[in-house]
Amino acid sequence: MHSLSYVAAKPNGPWATYLAQIDQVVPHLGRLARWHETLRRPKRALCVDIPIEMDDGRVAHFEGFRVQHSLTRGPGKGGVRYHPDVTLEEVMALAAWMTIKNAAVNLPYGGAKGGVRVDPSLVSERELEKITRRYTSEIGIIIGPQQDIPAPDVNTNAKIMAWMMDTYSMNVGATATGVVTGKPVPLGGSLGRVKATGRGVFVVGRETARRLGVGLTDARVAIQGFGNVGSAAAELFAGNGASIVAVQDHTGTVFNAAGLDIAGLMHELRSKGGIGAFAGGERIPDEQFWDVESDFLIPAALEGQITAERAQRIRTRIVLEGANGPTLVEADAVLGNRGIAVVPDVVANAGGVIVSYFEWVQDFSSFFWSEDEINMRLEKILVSAYRKIWETAELHRISLRTAAFLVACQRVLLAREERGLYP
Ligand code: NAD
Repeated sequence: MHSLSYVAAKPNGPWATYLAQIDQVVPHLGRLARWHETLRRPKRALCVDIPIEMDDGRVAHFEGFRVQHSLTRGPGKGGVRYHPDVTLEEVMALAAWMTIKNAAVNLPYGGAKGGVRVDPSLVSERELEKITRRYTSEIGIIIGPQQDIPAPDVNTNAKIMAWMMDTYSMNVGATATGVVTGKPVPLGGSLGRVKATGRGVFVVGRETARRLGVGLTDARVAIQGFGNVGSAAAELFAGNGASIVAVQDHTGTVFNAAGLDIAGLMHELRSKGGIGAFAGGERIPDEQFWDVESDFLIPAALEGQITAERAQRIRTRIVLEGANGPTLVEADAVLGNRGIAVVPDVVANAGGVIVSYFEWVQDFSSFFWSEDEINMRLEKILVSAYRKIWETAELHRISLRTAAFLVACQRVLLAREERGLYP
């Protein structure tokens, strides 16, 4: 086994976390373990320069990435993140987690991810459009409806997907709706896509609560991140009787033991760009978020948030990973020893990519489904994938995360074995 020369993975960084997760599954792989090195290196990693002319006439350069971790089971699939801290290492890990996620819920995709090192709040809309269009052109040599299909992630949305779809279409000389998912509905987007990840978080949370005998109607929920994933999950938990007792975003943390008003939080987010100053709760120091007593703790912001130290303090029954990679490896062990159930990202937040898959299928057939049909199919795929993961965990007496990885790695490596090595 060799480490990769082109990335200096940080201890406890996302790539090291991913590799440690793979280590835990290898002993359970039997003869397929022969192929596990396949999972430890991305198939393809593209770094691009994005020069644009800013509104004030300066020429600025941004770094962009697209990593295809695996194309063994189908085209690459995974979001694009805009964040000032994006690195190749982070995008590699996010791409690898997409390989695992797509296989864990049995979608016919490999795993990919993209990112641009930019703080979108510091550029104008015009500049953001230029960055998006140039980035899309640069990665255009490896993406496409049959090759690799980007989607939204942190700080990217339907509007950005529309620019990506338009740029790709201009470059190939035909309208190619299937090149990205998470598009606006009039451009071939799918109903239900915007809230799909949060809906999936709720569905998997509900299934976990049922199995563990935790009541939903009086459950207390703490959520870190009130963006696409966190806000949609909050709405559904609250709509099913739970109380959202604490919410944290990049502007601060609010707490209300009697439950925060979700419509009020949504209004606060729209009008102020964050919920930190919401008057419907008490503002608490950010670090205190991890001490709030809850039944569900939903990290739905960035990776690496649950450290071993925080894991010792957390007072909850179920950690439901809305974010990708929010729990460090040592923290996973601490939570496990404390009897706190951890529902891993690769299934808890798979609702988004499942509905992205529906969008891609609808675009190919140019036949669009109703929102009810989409939600029903989403629920069916997720509940059955989660059942298999739960049963695998019980059978092998392993964590839900290792079980999800086991189910996924078996699918990826079986496909690898069947395909054989080229040439
Ligand atoms: P988003 O940009 O819509 O929201 C991100 C949220 O995190 C915001 O509320 C932001 O304020 C908060 N945040 C950022 N930095 C923070 C910090 N330091 N402390 C506390 N809060 C902070 O992003 P999103 O699409 O909701 O994605 C959130 C997570 O879910 C990411 O890990 C992403 O990879 C994952 N995810 C997203 C999707 C999707 O469909 N959007 C699908 C699967 C997984």
